[in-house]
Amino acid sequence: MWRASVLTIFPEMFPGPLGVSLAGKALAANVWSLDTHDIRNAATDKHRTVDDTPAGGGPGMVMKADVLARALDGVPHDTRPRLLMSPRGRPLTQARAAELARGLGVVILCARFEGVDERLIKARKLEEVSLGDFVLSGGEPAAIALLDACVRLLPGVMGKEASAAEESFADGLLEYPQYTRPPVFEGEPIPEVLTGGDHAKVAQWRREQAEKLTRERRPDLWAAYLARKRPN
Ligand code: SAH
Repeated sequence: MWRASVLTIFPEMFPGPLGVSLAGKALAANVWSLDTHDIRNAATDKHRTVDDTPAGGGPGMVMKADVLARALDGVPHDTRPRLLMSPRGRPLTQARAAELARGLGVVILCARFEGVDERLIKARKLEEVSLGDFVLSGGEPAAIALLDACVRLLPGVMGKEASAAEESFADGLLEYPQYTRPPVFEGEPIPEVLTGGDHAKVAQWRREQAEKLTRERRPDLWAAYLARKRPN
């Protein structure tokens, strides 16, 4: 069973959205498991303090290395990667999510306030993972997004195996546009090629559309795609 352990000061945020729909059904079916650990349980004072003022001054609070280390060390030790959700991390990709889904699971540390003491990141060899170039108020929504991306790739979670292979990013391109009934919506018909029944033409149209969208919207993905298609 794929195993997710989450360390947070807000364990009540879990499973949250992960308890519903695909991920929720998979959780109930023991395709994956989720255990949450309240970081405050690793505090030693009577106020259960997890943060302190930043060395060198400045606004906000920093999560304490000693408390976080104790919390992390309390999660059964195995070979799962230990992730820290952080805007400074490497942005999450579909490729990394797929890699994590193929493994045993993940241990995720969700930070709050201004972040965590740098020494903790080094001492526990945490992999910093970002959701994108924006700042959340805490790591929990980022952890939920990462877990959702992984869990839907676990064997048996998605209905059709094919749906994962054709999605955005699967081959480095954004997905082609989708349509369904009614045949005409506010005067706009479904593109003719999709209703003509010629599967080769449909496949070619979809490929062209995926390439066009990627070129227009994501020059970064497009450049990487071209480089892969035409090495050197
Ligand atoms: N002062 C920090 C931001 C702290 S936000 C900075 O400027 O980098 C508080 C916490 O929310 C972070 O420690 C992290 O755990 C989480 N978080 C915020 N934005 C995130 C993002 N884009 N991806 C992943 N986690 C994020």
